Amino acid sequence: MSKPDLAKLSSLSPFELKDELIQLASGDANRLMLNAGRGNPNFLATVPRHGFWQLGLFAMRESERSFSYMPEGVGGFPRRAGIEERFDLFAREFEDVPGVKFLAGAVSYVRDQLGLNAGDFLYEMCEGILACNYPVPDRMLKLSEVVVGQYIRKEMIGSHPFIGEFDLFAVEGGTAAMTYLFNSFRENHLIKAGDTIALGMPIFTPYIEIPELNDYQLVELMVDADPKAGWQYSKQELDKLRDPKVKAFFLVNPSNPPSVRMSDESLEYLASIVESRPDLIILTDDVYGTFADNFVSLFALCPRNTILVYSFSKYFGATGWRLGVIATHRENIFDEQLAKLPEAQRKALHKRYNSITTTPDQLKFIDRIVADSRTVALNHTAGLSTPQQVQMVLFSLFSLMDTPDAYKQAMKRLIRNRKAALFREIGIAPENADDPNAVDYYTLLDIEQLGGKAIGPEFVKWVLDSAEPVELLFRLAEEAGVVLLPGRGFGTRHPSGRVSLANLNESDYVKIGRSIRKLFEEYVKRYNEATGNKADAKVTKK
Ligand SMILES: *Cc1c(COP(=O)(O)O)cnc(C)c1O
Repeated sequence: MSKPDLAKLSSLSPFELKDELIQLASGDANRLMLNAGRGNPNFLATVPRHGFWQLGLFAMRESERSFSYMPEGVGGFPRRAGIEERFDLFAREFEDVPGVKFLAGAVSYVRDQLGLNAGDFLYEMCEGILACNYPVPDRMLKLSEVVVGQYIRKEMIGSHPFIGEFDLFAVEGGTAAMTYLFNSFRENHLIKAGDTIALGMPIFTPYIEIPELNDYQLVELMVDADPKAGWQYSKQELDKLRDPKVKAFFLVNPSNPPSVRMSDESLEYLASIVESRPDLIILTDDVYGTFADNFVSLFALCPRNTILVYSFSKYFGATGWRLGVIATHRENIFDEQLAKLPEAQRKALHKRYNSITTTPDQLKFIDRIVADSRTVALNHTAGLSTPQQVQMVLFSLFSLMDTPDAYKQAMKRLIRNRKAALFREIGIAPENADDPNAVDYYTLLDIEQLGGKAIGPEFVKWVLDSAEPVELLFRLAEEAGVVLLPGRGFGTRHPSGRVSLANLNESDYVKIGRSIRKLFEEYVKRYNEATGNKADAKVTKK
């Protein structure tokens, strides 16, 4: 490939570059493309989906009890009276059908563990799955919020001390959460054009790109994770947040692409910084938290300052469902900062939200996000579609009843076995093999780390001098049909490729590992020829 070509390609965004790589990798019709660039999982949770379809059939029975004299296909709303008894009959009649036992268990869990009324719950679920009413309340259906809140508590807070309650807004996935949040921060003057926001780097690219948009014009300050320290943030980097000029800190935890969770030490250090920066807004995107054991979110440590974003997309293999939540503590700095805005801004916001409440000044930030999501005026039709909320509730109950975390262990085994297969074939052990904070949804193949470990720093220097990092990705695509994403696009400082461990089978990771080994051996050969060294590419490194 010619040099100018590469220079042009180096300037593309990672997702544009991915399209180019896919084109190259799919060029040979006799060869299967191995696209490890995608974060979309190739597995999915079956039990709560079976539950969804069976619940749908039960809800149809409920509906068809009304207007049954009409032959034209007209049903009515479910009836609250006797619904629990009718469900028990249904569950007994179909107990051998996949999903029915799960549903019966879920109803029992809601009643016997969460202390909710089973009939009310079944009614909300049936009405929700039939989708015969607007979502009310618009932020989230009432019992659905309680159930999903319990799931968030289990997975994001765990046994960490946590005082008080939090609110949830059910949204169309983590990316919708980001869109809504950025917009409401701006509309409510919590973050203004010209403000500085800190980003925990490397990071999922939209967090870099959105703040730079003309709509926001924010100044970005990078808080870099250190690859040599297992991709943790050093105290020195976190100390950047002490600067009062920094309005907010946005991070993905566990990170994407390094896929490690913040260490307990870093979490506590950050919490201590927040004590001296009580106005600091934290936005934490914890979509990968459920792939870790005993995960603790920053939301648990700094509940007043933190907005939590969680998505069901990855853990349940549910990207097409579009399911996520935004969580804020009932006592939070966002509502406090709204109350302290200058008079003129408060007046303007009073007018903005006047059409939806008689007390617009008291409208909580999270409810403003709901209103803003439908341009305020259409607030009465805001909210996530009710069947989506039902599936979210069933995913949550599945996980709450999943003791002792059998599904979680299966998820972890699946991705870790793929990682082991990849590195075994590359012949170089991963840097973070024993890291308790490694989550391994993705793995970063870092040229400096791998090349340094296998041969030495002179080799790394030679490779970087003689090849553009994108050239390596292009050769993998063109010659082996393997697509990886460049780490650079996510803001990594080292040349690297991101391998998603979620979207191919183990045998594919074996093939990817072999292709990388072949390329590596070729570069070692060229290095030896160019420098007269006798580096041995065949020695495997632990
Ligand atoms: C995949 C991913 C999401 C998921 O977004 P959805 O809109 O829920 O599919 C969110 N944040 C990060 C960091 C991700 O990697």
